Amino acid sequence: MRQGFRRVVIKVGSNVLTDGDGALDTSAMKRIADQIACLKKAGTEIILVSSGAVASGRGVVEGTRRLDSVSARQLFSSVGQARLINRYYELFSGHGIVCGQVLTTKESLSTRDHYLNQMNCMTVMLENGVIPIVNENDTISVTELMFTDNDELSGMVASMMNAECLIILSNIDGIYNGNPEAPGTEVIRLVRHGDDISRFITSGKSSFGRGGMLTKYRIAAKVADEGIMVVIANGKRDGVIKDIVLGKKNLACTVFQPSEKPISHIKKWIAHSDGFAKGKIHINKGALDALTGEKASSLLPIGVTAVEGEFEKGDIVRIIAPDGQPVGVGKVSAGSAKATESIGQKGNRPLIHYDYLYIDTFE
Ligand code: GLU
Repeated sequence: MRQGFRRVVIKVGSNVLTDGDGALDTSAMKRIADQIACLKKAGTEIILVSSGAVASGRGVVEGTRRLDSVSARQLFSSVGQARLINRYYELFSGHGIVCGQVLTTKESLSTRDHYLNQMNCMTVMLENGVIPIVNENDTISVTELMFTDNDELSGMVASMMNAECLIILSNIDGIYNGNPEAPGTEVIRLVRHGDDISRFITSGKSSFGRGGMLTKYRIAAKVADEGIMVVIANGKRDGVIKDIVLGKKNLACTVFQPSEKPISHIKKWIAHSDGFAKGKIHINKGALDALTGEKASSLLPIGVTAVEGEFEKGDIVRIIAPDGQPVGVGKVSAGSAKATESIGQKGNRPLIHYDYLYIDTFE
């Protein structure tokens, strides 16, 4: 395992920060803050993506009427986020470190300008020695505007901030090669770039957070494919963050080996933009082979069979294979009307240039 990272994103799930009843586990928070403080003092830049707002608010207010799920989330997170950040602030202050709060929404990352603005905010914090503590703004993000969970958010942050490593902490050791309860089952220690281990994962959710192992795997594989090492580990284990960063041998966790060919910053943005796609472009078998092949290829009008939805030049669209499955996303060089006119034509300029195209091998 590598050592001495320049910049690391650490995601801590609600299950790590709360006890069995869902109340804030302040000693667990202290253990995490102490390790982060140590790494920061040794020169590693840290961005913390912390869940726990909803869970820690739930223990404080009950709600005077029967609340629907959106109102409950808004109420609990408004109280819980204040508790959470207060606690972190005190803990880091004890080490002479300043932390700051970044509350974001999926919409705040939906255009390139929004994205760069969010990146600028965290960059200026890091430059000034402030640890960004990121969470989704659960008071305003509801249903379709929400991130799938904070695993998705942490993947976006790691990618956007050009981190070298993303550590996803939950309350289990990693991805197992079978039922964790069954004898002989073990944590998969290393996932090589391109390995598909989805057959080992069941779709269960964690009890206090929104995430599950399937999204963790999907995000981890995607982020590793961008050239960033990802580790899924147990945040309840003593010293786990330090052990990962210092490369301790035989640690029970799942490490995703990063691709040796990191992708450009603009491609990273596009890779995480599939949730903002405005329309769909259906492609034929020839185009699919070209786009998924070894050689870098752009999407040409001759490979397009249909255009769905309305979009403008510069928007992000989803690319659909002949079998109806999404294969990636890209930034289009023409609006939907022009793209429709050019379907099947030879010799036209690319509809999506290679530099603005991301093929997701884990879709
Ligand atoms: N943002 C939510 C919170 O802080 C957690 C979302 C998740 O569980 O991934 O409570």
